[in-house]
Amino acid sequence: MSEKDGLRTYRAKRHFDRTSEPSGEHETREKREKSAADSSDEPAFVVQIHDASSLHFDFRLEVDGVLKSWSIPKGPSTDPHDKRLAIPTEDHPMAYRDFEGVIPHGEYGGGTVIVWDQGTYRPTSHDKRGRPVPFAQALENGHVTFEMHGEKLRGGYALTRFHGREERDGGPPKKPTWLLVRTQGPGAGHGGGTPDPRRARSARTGRTLRQVAEAPDAPTWQPKDGEHA
Ligand code: MN
Repeated sequence: MSEKDGLRTYRAKRHFDRTSEPSGEHETREKREKSAADSSDEPAFVVQIHDASSLHFDFRLEVDGVLKSWSIPKGPSTDPHDKRLAIPTEDHPMAYRDFEGVIPHGEYGGGTVIVWDQGTYRPTSHDKRGRPVPFAQALENGHVTFEMHGEKLRGGYALTRFHGREERDGGPPKKPTWLLVRTQGPGAGHGGGTPDPRRARSARTGRTLRQVAEAPDAPTWQPKDGEHA
């Protein structure tokens, strides 16, 4: 996750004539702020499952008009005892919330993507005196807490940055990594807190990775009210 370059890194990695991923080109800040205010008072999140060179979850939180992103090899857990490694990746455009499909082989991130969960989150970071800290600032400080209001993920989570041993010991700087942890509270489970990415279904279309891989453009199945993918 580069802090200041907006979507430049995202665009530099991709060929938009070859992948159907959004370029985010028409997402002006004004439009992004307006649409965020229109749809909900809370910022959005999306968690995608990405069957690329390695199978992983992509965890993305809306912050100041872009999706701050982490790659989580094992995915989020509902068990507060699980600490999930979260590797920062480049900011993604807001339109990426809707992306589900196949990135062509040979392109950056080539492989199948499904939207595993979507919704909004409520930032809950506070300073030592109990005053709210803006989410972007808390991220720069390396520790955020938030409450997820998704279809699958619900309840409190924390993301915390840490540095590798080499850096602490004065060795060469290592790319910081983060840990995603479910905080205690209603809905926190114990054991079995991790979805099986091969069996998991899209929150948007009900499809598995395999179904999307076999027919990326097939008409999408819409969940009925109360029906859970
Ligand atoms: Mn990915």
